[in-house]
Amino acid sequence: MKLHWQIMIALGLAVVFGLASSLEYDSAVLSFGLYPVYKFIGTLFLNALKMIIVPLVVSSIIVGVAGIGSSGGFGRLGGKTLLYYLVTTFISVTIGLMVVNAIEPGIVGGEAVKDQINLTADVSAITAKVEGRGASDVINVFIRMIPPNIVAAASNGQMLGLIFFSLLFGYFLARIGEPYAESQYNFWQGLYEVMLRVTLFIMKFAPIGVFGLVAAVVADTGAGQFLTLMETLGWFFLSVILALSIHMFIVMPLILRFVAGVNPLRHYRAMAPALLTAFSTASSSATLPLTMECVEKNAGVSNRTTSFVLPLGSTVNMDGTALYECVAAMFIAQAYGLDLSFTQQFVIVLLALLTSIGVAGIPSASLVAITIILGYIGLPAEGIALIFVVDRILDMCRTAVNIFSDSCGAVTIGKLEGEEGILVEPVKE
Ligand code: ASP
Repeated sequence: MKLHWQIMIALGLAVVFGLASSLEYDSAVLSFGLYPVYKFIGTLFLNALKMIIVPLVVSSIIVGVAGIGSSGGFGRLGGKTLLYYLVTTFISVTIGLMVVNAIEPGIVGGEAVKDQINLTADVSAITAKVEGRGASDVINVFIRMIPPNIVAAASNGQMLGLIFFSLLFGYFLARIGEPYAESQYNFWQGLYEVMLRVTLFIMKFAPIGVFGLVAAVVADTGAGQFLTLMETLGWFFLSVILALSIHMFIVMPLILRFVAGVNPLRHYRAMAPALLTAFSTASSSATLPLTMECVEKNAGVSNRTTSFVLPLGSTVNMDGTALYECVAAMFIAQAYGLDLSFTQQFVIVLLALLTSIGVAGIPSASLVAITIILGYIGLPAEGIALIFVVDRILDMCRTAVNIFSDSCGAVTIGKLEGEEGILVEPVKE
């Protein structure tokens, strides 16, 4: 059976088992005790994915950039990539802004939502998490880009620093000349090939891992709590899903069709395993190995483009996250009864765009960015408590959009670079 069907079935089972186990809290009769098992399986799978990120990112970027050679192609590829990231993220934030203004999820029945939700729950824990965040965090994003210690950056998962170093390394590798150039290049190419094999191996466990991850989330939330939340947060939930869907199912296919000139349906098929994994893990970084595998093997984008566009994109290009930041900040402002001027809304768009670059590809990472935006509007960081409870499920959706945009970037740029073999025949996977 094809991998994406296996993962789909695992997702369905995870919902059933997760719901059954969530009853455990209310009923001693249904005490399955399966929750720790879900956690165990999910964590093993996630660890396996995280384990390969550093060697995969470093080797793929070095091979990608060195492979471009010293002929000036690097600037052209880099320019197109950055332009793609910027334009698509800007479009996604704009969609978010329009939807949130049209639906006004923060106002239910003519009243600001804040008073309808019991804000006292968990507020202190959440404020402690995000306290002291501010404008300096935006600047820190750029400071972290040049890490003083590359080993520390790698061990702390600071991808931006690692990416910057790898870009430099690959760039100068192409310029050192023989006899070192060849042995260096072969070494990194070999490492990259090994990491791809390891990825393929880990992918075989995706259905089991996805089951564990999702069952735990469902058990944590439970059907009862979810329905209660939906009464007040339903409109917010809907706004985010609607805006994300417009980006994923209207904007992206249009770009694929008219800029890249490929069949969008084929691309969805090609990316199915990666999309489902992004949804289940809520982490772009953890999904990166699968994203690369799907783009290269299923969509047929060259190694040269994939290894440059995707690792960079998984940290820098986060359309879903930027959109979510904008909708969430606007929602909280509405929920507090605040009317934002056009200029303030424009700054929210800019901040969402900027901070999404620095947001790490891990679950819930955008909450910190949202507090930065709240600080700018002059709202207390605890406003984040309003959305905290539904964050995980929305995180799963926005992460899928994040990696889908990266993959469309690889396809589009590959096509613009004149590659022939992209999505030429129906995808077998
Ligand atoms: N979880 C997201 C990602 O990994 C980041 C976020 O929006 O929190 O892409």
